[in-house]
Amino acid sequence: MKNYIVRGLAGNKSIRLFAAITTDMVEKARKIHGTTPVATAALGRTMTAASIMGYMLKGEKDKVTLQIRGSNKIKSIVAVADSKGFVKGYISHPHIDVTLNEKGKLDVGGAVGKNGKMIIAKDLGLKEPYVGQSNLITGEIGEDLAAYYMYSEQQPSVVSLGVLLDVDGSVKASGGFIIQPLPDVDEETLIKLEEAIRDIPSTSSMVDEGMTAEEILRAVLKGFDVEIIEKNEIDFVCDCSIDKIEKALISIGEKELRSLIEEDGKAEIKCHFCNKEYLFDKEDLTGLLNEALNNK
Ligand SMILES: [Zn+2]
Repeated sequence: MKNYIVRGLAGNKSIRLFAAITTDMVEKARKIHGTTPVATAALGRTMTAASIMGYMLKGEKDKVTLQIRGSNKIKSIVAVADSKGFVKGYISHPHIDVTLNEKGKLDVGGAVGKNGKMIIAKDLGLKEPYVGQSNLITGEIGEDLAAYYMYSEQQPSVVSLGVLLDVDGSVKASGGFIIQPLPDVDEETLIKLEEAIRDIPSTSSMVDEGMTAEEILRAVLKGFDVEIIEKNEIDFVCDCSIDKIEKALISIGEKELRSLIEEDGKAEIKCHFCNKEYLFDKEDLTGLLNEALNNK
C-alpha cells in the first residue's frame, strides 16, 4: 500500500485519530498539473486534508469539497474526496514562482495569503450540502483547517499537514494527521493531549524517515494507548466521464449549444482536476442539442 490512511482511537476511545501517507498521490497531482514547488506543497497539503476529511464521513456515498480561496498569488485550491479517502484536486495557479519564508522553507502561507477563506462543503446525500467556512489564519492550510474546525464546527482539532520536496521539485514525502477529542473526553485526558502535542515533529520529516502512519500517531501521542481500527488505500482518482461532461454541456442550454455548433463547430472540454480532454464534433453537439430540446 503506497498511499494509505488509518483511523484510530486513544484515551479510552475519547480521542479519534486519522493519519495519511500521501507521497505518491501528491506526486501524481504534481505531474498532472505541472506544479512548481510552492504550488505542489499547497495543493498537496489541501489534498491530504481533504482525503482525511473524506475518510471521516459516515455514509458510503458522502463527499467533501475543501476549497481554499487565497488572497495572494494562489487564488483557488480545490480538493474533493469520497468516504474512502480517494481524492482529486486542482490549483488555479500551478506555475507560481518559488518563494521561501524567513525559515528558508517554501512559503505556502505567503503564496496563499492570510486574507482568504476556507470553504468546506459536505455532500451527505441530503437535498443541500452542508457548507461551512472560516477566514484563513496563516494560509499554511493545516492551521487554517484547525481554526475552521474550532470556529465553524466547535470541534477542537490538532491538524498537521506536510509536503517535502526533493531538489528536482518532485515529492519526497507527504502526509498528515488530524486528532480530535470527542465530546465525552475527560479533563485529565485533555491535559495529557495538550502536553503531548506541545512539541510535534514535522510530519513530512517523519514520513521521509520512513515512519508509517501508525508510527506517526504513536510518536505524536506519546504515552497514549493508540489503537488503530482501520486502514485503507487511497489515491488521486478523478471521477470525470464522458457522461458527466455531456450532462454539463446539455445543461448550458439551447442558445449556448447552438452558438457552439454554428460558431465553433466543435467543443473541447478539459477536466480541471485531471486535465483529461473531451472532444465533441459538430455531430456530437447536434445530438446533445436534440437531447436538450427533448428535455425541455
Ligand atoms: Zn477528470
